[in-house]
Order: sequence, then structure tokens, then C-alpha cells
Amino acid sequence: MMKKIAILGSTGSIGTQTLEVVRYNKDIQVTALAAGSNVKLLEEQIREFKPRLACLWDEEKAKELRAAVADMDVKVASGMEGLMEAAVSPEADLVVTAVVGMIGIRPTIAAMEAGKDIALANKETLVTAGHIIMPLAREKGVKLLPVDSEHSAIFQCLQGAAGNPLHKILLTASGGPFRGFTREQLEKVRLEDALKHPNWSMGHKITIDSSTMVNKGLEVMEARWLFGVEMDQVQVVVQPASIIHSMVEFEDGAVIAQLGTPDMKLPIQYALYYPERRFLPGDRLDFEKLTKISFEVPDMETFRGLKLAYEAGRRGGTLPTVFNAANEMAVAMFLERKINYLTIVDMIEGAMEHHCVKPSPDVAQILEAEQETYDYITSKWN
Ligand code: NDP
Ligand code: MG
Repeated sequence: MMKKIAILGSTGSIGTQTLEVVRYNKDIQVTALAAGSNVKLLEEQIREFKPRLACLWDEEKAKELRAAVADMDVKVASGMEGLMEAAVSPEADLVVTAVVGMIGIRPTIAAMEAGKDIALANKETLVTAGHIIMPLAREKGVKLLPVDSEHSAIFQCLQGAAGNPLHKILLTASGGPFRGFTREQLEKVRLEDALKHPNWSMGHKITIDSSTMVNKGLEVMEARWLFGVEMDQVQVVVQPASIIHSMVEFEDGAVIAQLGTPDMKLPIQYALYYPERRFLPGDRLDFEKLTKISFEVPDMETFRGLKLAYEAGRRGGTLPTVFNAANEMAVAMFLERKINYLTIVDMIEGAMEHHCVKPSPDVAQILEAEQETYDYITSKWN
């Protein structure tokens, strides 16, 4: 049986690694590919994987792509309409949501409404709309298969739990390149330093988020929805080498962990073939060389982004959206060298303080809160 998948964000870090998994498994067919503006790579992917539909967000780039693949039997769409079309592409059984940012919410919901299982990489979807996504998954009977390595680890730890409730999630964090830094040291951080993650190779946005620990904050919110626990049942544990990908603790105190080398292809392949485990080439953990695994408590006073994430998650409603949108805009500005490193978290804090929280927002209210946050930051910091 061929497995049929659509990939939203196929030219990114998760997208290209998903296609690597497709490449060495001969029983997956790609039905649709969507990206932002990377014409060259999407053209190569179309020629290799032969999807029926391709989409570029940027209309001009989509025109270029249309001309470039005129010899192929593929429809090239653009914009949100194209992204939605890719999300619901009729042949696909599963959609990999690997676009970066809140742009992922609407296509993910559309795919679920069309009955597709979701391999979920786009964490912004659950952070901002978890209260909509989780009931929708149950209503439509679709699977939400986590791709984020920590969430995949937790999901793997829960296989065989026989319905026993979780007492606690122990979400591991590498601590990023600035682990142990003081506030004074963080003040001097340059873009080049923040783009170097010690263990994982990822897209720019999430690499910056890992350095500020905002990524871990987003992951705590993601975990709380996926696994149906309270924010305070998710404890962040710093494990600098990224060998333990996360752990769960049960009522009796038993802790189950998932370990492995830091390679996103494992959680990606697990999501694509769940519950089957297949051979995966690459390095393995070598317990003859591994002499210790160490742990630390996260420093939430220096890395305030994590503390603010807990606050946003506890208060809920539109506040996680504001946390996320403020961070998206701040990181984009930092990547363009328009602001200093520490201003990222100042922007998040300022936007959260300014916002009047709406409980249980629908998608329109979430997108309004996003826009309101962008407007606030633009007016206050320009
Ligand atoms: P990248 O920046 O590497 O890739 C983002 C992808 O989204 C690219 O294909 C990009 O296309 C596409 N894209 C951007 N904007 C749009 C748009 N408006 N419409 C359609 N496509 C768009 O990100 P990552 O792969 O690192 O991350 C993707 C998601 O997965 C994020 O939510 C991240 O938090 C999450 N994640 C990533 C992990 C990782 O290891 N990288 C780990 C866990 C989660 P283009 O190339 O044309 O710009
Ligand atoms: Mg992660």
C-alpha cells in the first residue's frame, strides 16, 4: 500500500528531511508540496517527487515556477488559496505541516476538516489554537502525530501506558548556545552567535527561539494540549547534550524516557509510519562512549522568555497568540539586525502587558490578536 502525503513547508529544514525519509522509503507518494518563495528548490523537488500540485506563497515566484515546470504534469498554485488547496489535496492521507509561523493554523484546520491525519511540526498551531485543534481531531477522528522531537519522545513514552494517566511531563531542553550566560553576557549576543545551535540543525527562526528558550516555552504549551495536562504538569529539564528527548512520570513515580541521537528524521519517520518502526540509517547512541548524562534547572530569570511562556499558557485565551506573534515579529527584526538580542523578550513582555485577554478565541479572534500584536510592536518600537 502506498502512503500518500502532502508537505506544507517542503523547502525548509523539516520539509527537506521529510523528503529524505520519503527518498529511502519506497512506499510513500507525495501528492502536494508547498513553500514560501524558494523556486529553485521547489522545482527540483517537483522533478524528483512528481506531486500533482505545488504551491508557492509568493505570486510572482509562483509564476516563475509555473514557467520552469511547464513540461511537467503539475498544477502550480499560490497564496493562502494554494496553501489551503495543498492542505486538502484529495489523494493525501496525511499532511506534514512544516511551514514556519502562524500561517500554519488555517491549512492545518482545513486538512483536519478534510479528514487528513497530521504530522505536526508547526508548533504555532497548537500554541495559539490548541483549544480548537484538539476537539477537532477527536470530532473528525484524525491522528495528530507530533514531529517536534520532544513531543514525539513523550508520545513514544506513552505507547504501552495502558491508559494510565500522566503525572508529569519532563520536557528536556539543551539550553541552547547561551546556557549559563548572565544577562550582561546576553546583552552582547550577535546574530551569528545566536544562529549556532550546539546540537540541532534547524531553520533560522527556531534556532533563535532555542537560544532564547522561547522555543521551550512554545513546546510547553504544545505539550499541554497534545497530552491533555495542565501547564504546571510540564517541567522543563535542561539536558545539554540532547540525548534524552523527553520523559514522562507516572503516578507511581516511574519515569520513562526516550533517548537517541539528535536527528529529526527519527520523529519524522515515526510520525509517517506510526505505529510501525522502520530502519533508519545514521548514527546510533554508543553506550561504550557515552559516560554521563547531566541535568540542570533552567534559569528562568535570565531566560525570561520561558517564564513569560508559562504565564501566557496559564492565563490562556488569546495570550499565547500574543506571546507567539510578538516573538515572531521580534525574531524577524533580530534576523534583519534591526533590534538587539534582549529586545526580543522585551517585545514579548510589552505586548503581553498591553493585551486585553479574550478567553476561548475562535480562529478569527486569534488572527485579530496576532494583527493587533504586530500593530502594537510596530507603533511602539519603530
Ligand atoms: P524553515 O524556516 O527551515 O522552513 C520553513 C518552511 O516554510 C519553508 O519551506 C518555507 O518556504 C515555508 N514557508 C514560509 N512561509 C510560508 C508561507 N507563507 N507559505 C507557505 N510556505 C511557507 O523552518 P523549520 O523547518 O525549521 O520549521 C518549520 C516548523 O517546524 C516551525 O513551526 C518550527 O517551529 C517547527 N519545528 C522545527 C524543527 C526543526 O528541527 N527544524 C523541530 C521542531 C519543530 P521557503 O523556503 O520558500 O521560504
Ligand atoms: Mg523541539
